[in-house]
Amino acid sequence: MEKWPIGVFASIDAGLGVKLEVANDLNIPTIQLHAPAKESRTAENAKLFLQKLSTYNITLTAVFGGFEGESYADIPTVVETVGLIPESTRAQRTTEMKEISDFARLLHCDVVALHLGFVPHETSSPLYQEILAVTRDLCDHCKTNQQALHLETGQETAEGLLQFLTDVERDNLFVNFDPANMILYGTGEPIEALQKIGQYVRSVHCKDGKWADNPGQEWGAEVALGDGDVGMENYLRTLDQLGYEGPLTIEREIPQDPDRQKLEIGSAVSLLNEIKQKIG
Ligand code: MG
Repeated sequence: MEKWPIGVFASIDAGLGVKLEVANDLNIPTIQLHAPAKESRTAENAKLFLQKLSTYNITLTAVFGGFEGESYADIPTVVETVGLIPESTRAQRTTEMKEISDFARLLHCDVVALHLGFVPHETSSPLYQEILAVTRDLCDHCKTNQQALHLETGQETAEGLLQFLTDVERDNLFVNFDPANMILYGTGEPIEALQKIGQYVRSVHCKDGKWADNPGQEWGAEVALGDGDVGMENYLRTLDQLGYEGPLTIEREIPQDPDRQKLEIGSAVSLLNEIKQKIG
């Protein structure tokens, strides 16, 4: 694959991503896929989807897990509902994440990713130990499918995430870096964070955001790529310095407004191509 192929976050049925047809219309060569709902994760559907990818000449680079009942309404709701942290859904979601890994295998995809949720900061707390155990279990399952597991960034500071990655002690655990999330969640300046965890970064989102007035307590605002506080040229230059050559996957989470979503993703493609040309 060429250096820095453009990508987009896509969905088959429900989900925050764009439809595959939109990626095709915009001539985007790679996608990350939001895992389809359980009833759609069949061998037959995997085959049909692979045919579609092949027709469109699109490469699938990661399958993202997501779960029913997750809500990103505000930061406290994320703590309570997202990922494998909430105890009442943990076992069931871990099982589902393994099924998503198996489905990704059917799609010949060697990267599975997810938002783990808010990992507690106190490394001695029982919850921290439980989350380590569940992450190891998931990494080991992915390994049997020859896959890596990528954790989406945002909910932890770079230091917190680095500590966690080290403590899990699995060689197929990496990071999907999302610079906008650092701003939206108020967990740290994204470029500094990227430099700190760079050795673990194996996939990235290109997304932009603006800081909240009270970072960490309320959401920042997701905006079109280039309009926010990330600094896209600086972002790509930093990825370049780290030796990252993988896909640049655009994420624009406004599925309620598909026309604007497509338009803004088109502009994001142009912006990224401009910067690529400049710093190649
Ligand atoms: Mg993201």
